[in-house]
Amino acid sequence: MIIVLLGVSGCGKTTVGKQLSQKTGIPFFDGDDFHPKSNIDKMTKGMSLNDNDRCPWLLSLASNIETWAEENGAILACSALKERYRVVLSSKYNDIIWVHLSGSHDLIKGRIEKRGGHFMNADLLASQFKDLETPEYGIHADISESPEKITENIISKLENINQSFFGVIGLGVMGSSLSLNIAEKGYALSVYNRIAPGEENIVSDFLNKADEVMQIKGFTELKAFVNSLERPRKILIMIKAGKAIDAVIEALIPILSEGDILIDGGNSHYLDTNKRYEYLKSKQLHFIGCGVSGGEEGARKGPSIMPGGAKESYQIIEPVLEAIAAKDKKGNACCAYVGLQGAGHFVKMVHNGIEYAEMQLLAEIYALLSITNNNEEITTILSQWNTTDLSSYLLEITINILKTKENGKYVLDTILDKAGNKGTGSWSTKAGFDLGTVNTMMSSAVFARYISSFKEKRKHLSKFIKSDLKVTDVFDVNSLEKAYRFARIINHHQGFELIRLASKTFNWQLNISEIARIWTNGCIIRSEFMETSVNVFKDYESYLDTTDLLEVLISAENHMTKSIAYSLSHRVPFDTFWSAYNHWIAITTENLPANLIQAQRDYFGAHMYQKIDAPKEQFFHTNWY
Ligand code: NDP
Repeated sequence: MIIVLLGVSGCGKTTVGKQLSQKTGIPFFDGDDFHPKSNIDKMTKGMSLNDNDRCPWLLSLASNIETWAEENGAILACSALKERYRVVLSSKYNDIIWVHLSGSHDLIKGRIEKRGGHFMNADLLASQFKDLETPEYGIHADISESPEKITENIISKLENINQSFFGVIGLGVMGSSLSLNIAEKGYALSVYNRIAPGEENIVSDFLNKADEVMQIKGFTELKAFVNSLERPRKILIMIKAGKAIDAVIEALIPILSEGDILIDGGNSHYLDTNKRYEYLKSKQLHFIGCGVSGGEEGARKGPSIMPGGAKESYQIIEPVLEAIAAKDKKGNACCAYVGLQGAGHFVKMVHNGIEYAEMQLLAEIYALLSITNNNEEITTILSQWNTTDLSSYLLEITINILKTKENGKYVLDTILDKAGNKGTGSWSTKAGFDLGTVNTMMSSAVFARYISSFKEKRKHLSKFIKSDLKVTDVFDVNSLEKAYRFARIINHHQGFELIRLASKTFNWQLNISEIARIWTNGCIIRSEFMETSVNVFKDYESYLDTTDLLEVLISAENHMTKSIAYSLSHRVPFDTFWSAYNHWIAITTENLPANLIQAQRDYFGAHMYQKIDAPKEQFFHTNWY
């Protein structure tokens, strides 16, 4: 390593250079020791050197630098005030690390005077300041500190030289795509994947996939990975949620430094994120629970990103996250600070809950339309819908799925009807219970997946059902389209209500319109309706506060009942649509039979009840028998 300490006379090049040499073990050289005799004679006579005098001196230093670089490196103290001097110095070895010791004229003058016995012409110092062309590159060390502190600062900055700006742990589907996305945006990146039996080449395979111009370093040893990162270290953990995250965090803690930032980009439960946030805070480490949506393609080309944690932690990584995120219609990043603690992961969880119900609605539509239409006809119907306000990413991929053939067969027709899940839908559903709000559509969608998985049971019981259903009535596709629009509004309503309630409960102060905005692109639930939602939440707390959307719901009621009736008469499970409709009926009904529930509760448990005509603070009990 070649380090040149530059600066005007009296800035402390020799003192700092020697200390730096002591701490790093790199030999120290004083540039003044390499002047030719003619220069020494001139200086001894008190004459200043001109550029012609300096030229042979700088050239000889350049040759020495070349030699030192091949040996043990060097720390060279050399004023190198002008850019053209630095060009000559680096003419034979251009990887020099320039360290500019910078301080004001008065500070240096004062220090020189204090030293005593050291004479320096005031004009000479002033002319050096005039000559100084401060380099924009390299390390700039403020000399107002003590030499020890200056040395310490330089060492910490040196550690960052040639180090990666960002790190990613986990090169699975998401981690590798996000890594390529980050590196493509010009960030120097380090990546790490554990070595598991049979998967020894994950890192090298990944590096082979990466473009040559990308600056990526690969590691299979955690400590080396951590050491390769500049401080504060910024590490995105992109691995399986749950215990694996805790294990990786525990392995990282002893090798991280105060102020480093860990970002969990997986689908972690927000309550786990809350705990990890507090735990890492106690270790003086930042922690960002970051929701990422968009699947593999989104991660590579631009996902929707939902970061939560302390705002000041987020601000350090904001440029990277914004650079890799999808862009909304106005060109703004689909990434915004969500809120404290696990707010980012909470919002991502609800995103997935909405996604579950959106997917199930399309599955129920597919089931209903399949009664009288083949895949091609269904494609035509859905393609038409996708040209309207119903357009969405999920509708688009459903159309593509319906069209896809392999060996002359529709792939869809060959897929076993057992739906899997990774848990985020059920977490969302449970959050509704915990916070006391209605999210029946996502729960219906989760249960629909569960019941689909009982394939053997379904096969067995289906034999007992006499299938003498006849398709008599012609199904009105127009009604289904309106029912679909209706159900989507209720689904989004339930999801955003869940977020609104969490914001209130946990005092997260979430900006709902902004959350809708970062969901307008990159994520799985991006849609035309999400664009509408951004504006709705700028002015209203809820969709149901807007007359336009209320009108859409009211006018679609009979289409909903028609579609539900059709599903009933043809034995098609249609639970997610039902849930939407039931929610709507209940929320628009003044008198519900909850009076009976209250009476029953009071009957067996003396839970008391309020009365229609008494103040709501007043509770009553009846001796029922
Ligand atoms: P993958 O299964 O493709 O990759 C999982 C990664 O986690 C691998 O690198 C794996 O390493 C690593 N890993 C697993 N267990 C451990 C462990 N105990 N210690 C260290 N590393 C471990 O998953 P994805 O990339 O799909 O998902 C990563 C995270 O992102 C998950 O939380 C997921 O829910 C979330 N997510 C996924 C999306 C998707 O569409 N796939 C979308 C949004 C979020 P190894 O290769 O050695 O097993």
